[in-house]
Amino acid sequence: MEHIQTVVIGAGVIGLACAKILAESGREVIVLEAADSIGSETSSRNSEVMHAGIYYPKDSLKARFCVAGKMALYDYCESHGVPYQRCGKLIVATTAQEEGTLNDIVQKARNNGVTDLEFITGQAAMALEPALSCTSALLSPSTGIIDSHALMLAYQGDAESCGAMIACNSPVLGGRRDGQGIVLSIGGAGPMDLCANEVIVAAGLHSQTVARAIVGVPTETIPGQFFCKGSYFITATRSPFQRLIYPVPAQAGLGVHVTIDLAGGLRFGPDTEWIDGLADPNRYAVDPDRAQGFYAAVRRYYPALPDGALSPGYSGIRPKLSPPGRAADDFQIDGPGTHYVPGLVCLYGMESPGLTASLAIARHVLGLLAADQ
Ligand SMILES: Cc1cc2nc3c(=O)[nH]c(=O)nc-3n(C[C@H](O)[C@H](O)[C@H](O)COP(=O)(O)OP(=O)(O)OC[C@H]3O[C@@H](n4cnc5c(N)ncnc54)[C@H](O)[C@@H]3O)c2cc1C
Repeated sequence: MEHIQTVVIGAGVIGLACAKILAESGREVIVLEAADSIGSETSSRNSEVMHAGIYYPKDSLKARFCVAGKMALYDYCESHGVPYQRCGKLIVATTAQEEGTLNDIVQKARNNGVTDLEFITGQAAMALEPALSCTSALLSPSTGIIDSHALMLAYQGDAESCGAMIACNSPVLGGRRDGQGIVLSIGGAGPMDLCANEVIVAAGLHSQTVARAIVGVPTETIPGQFFCKGSYFITATRSPFQRLIYPVPAQAGLGVHVTIDLAGGLRFGPDTEWIDGLADPNRYAVDPDRAQGFYAAVRRYYPALPDGALSPGYSGIRPKLSPPGRAADDFQIDGPGTHYVPGLVCLYGMESPGLTASLAIARHVLGLLAADQ
């Protein structure tokens, strides 16, 4: 049987960041990816926003990794030529009640070390963004947008230049411990077993399924999973906004917001729709009827959105650890200290801000493996 030092399961943005950081630490790394290309699931179905780290509970992994990850990512984009724009964002209140919530958001942000938020009047916000309607707003200058695919290619390039390999069409079907390490059974056209000293489960929406298939991972450590789809609608016109525009956040997501892409295109989303599972082959289809909800949500702060402007865009699915109605859980990153399988790290619930936090998450994974040696 082939033996390798480190396997990363999943070539999304987090798996690729782990591959880069682990390969740069001198490890021999292979990334096993079920699909025929990198980043074809959640990592290419998101808002491509570099979040500031505003909303997350104090000391949570999401807060820590978002703030550290954002700073690392801006530096990384600069040094590796990954297209990005530090465009800033406005969180807009449209009612007196929402204005109260803006105060809570500022406090949360300060708790997380985000100190650059600026309270501005509705008039000042509308002077910055004439298409906007609001009563007051928070300006977040350190929020930005990024080309997520270019980022993944850069991570892949860094990993490969340190000797890592990315193997697509290589679904991991299961695993077991033996005296040499963790033996993974790989399907696809050329099924094989591969033994690794270290295994990182970064399989996104499928992390729980993969962890359950590795004999020896205590089932009580594997969290429940819930899926919350977010659909986007796009317009044919260029964005009238220069900044991202977010409403005061809703419960399962950040509310239907305005994102601009690096080419100046305009998109709205994601909304929230809880789905039962991942079996439906059309799970990523965007239902045109959801546009009605978008018009209503967006016109609260962008009243001039013309009738008929929205067409279905794309969708992503949030890997949630909490059911509908409960506050979002934190990321769950289990090392050997949690599940007692030497060399194994499992990443669960890697929803937003996983893209922003990817480098910080990967450094944390490296730390968990180092602590296990
Ligand atoms: C609607 C939406 C909007 C978002 N917006 C933002 C945002 O603006 N900013 C931000 O920071 N974050 C955002 N996120 C979160 C971000 O997209 C994710 O945190 C990140 O993409 C997760 O990356 P990943 O590598 O964990 O998962 P994925 O990208 O899903 O990658 C997992 C990979 O594992 C592979 N895989 C699965 N099972 C197996 C197996 N058995 N064997 C081998 N490979 C397997 C899959 O094929 C996949 O390629 C958003 C998420 C959603 C859903």
